[in-house]
Amino acid sequence: MCDDVGVSESHSHTADEYLMTIWLLAYPVGEYVPSRRGPQPTAAARIADQLGVSRASSGEMLKRLEGEGMVVRGEKKEAILTEKGRIAAMRVVRRHRLVERLLTDVLGYDGAESHEKADGIDAGFDEEMVQRLWEKLGRPERCPHGYPIDARHELRENPTLKPLSKLDAGTEATIVRLAEHDGDLLHFFYDAELLPGIEIEVVAVSADGGAVTIRRGDDQLVLTREQARGLYARPAGVPVVPADTACWGSRGTGAATLSVVGD
Ligand SMILES: [Zn+2]
Repeated sequence: MCDDVGVSESHSHTADEYLMTIWLLAYPVGEYVPSRRGPQPTAAARIADQLGVSRASSGEMLKRLEGEGMVVRGEKKEAILTEKGRIAAMRVVRRHRLVERLLTDVLGYDGAESHEKADGIDAGFDEEMVQRLWEKLGRPERCPHGYPIDARHELRENPTLKPLSKLDAGTEATIVRLAEHDGDLLHFFYDAELLPGIEIEVVAVSADGGAVTIRRGDDQLVLTREQARGLYARPAGVPVVPADTACWGSRGTGAATLSVVGD
């Protein structure tokens, strides 16, 4: 399931990259997932946008994932992850995030480079290698961009985070995750040192919502709406959702363990 489909884009996305994208769109930050039964339907056009591919390419891959029982299509051709698809997506995101950590922690790449490079090599890591990697790296809780290694932790945390674009002026918050889908945007976050763990305050939001001014220490920065939408933050006073690392203890990567997500 990891080979290319031969689409015309310079970088052909694999089925796994599609699953990861659908996963992120199906469980958006700020949504209270437990109130829903299962993942949200995801418009095929949004998947194409996120991956920077044509709708034709996206449609072709979705057809393939449908054939593999990973997604079903809704009335408007939107993609909905099946149970099998959810389990596969959770494995893919865990593997991707751990390989990113390998690239930053061991090989010295910066966070912006690690996401892109991980796309090229993560498919080569089987389940056992991923488990060993997790142990060797000291059981990290998050990828370099702040996403939990354990996708169930991600789901529990989602309702506690908001994109900066949705915060009111005067709100203090801690940046927790950086959107990874746009390489230029990710590089901007690293260049501007807008990184997980950084504390900010929203100073002003322009009337049309097109610009968000933030304060970080003594600096003020004006972010575009797009930039502000890619920074996921925990507003001050919202409790931190702890990781349950015991879940991933020795060999805890089986489907039975993973299938509890969203229930
Ligand atoms: Zn990452």
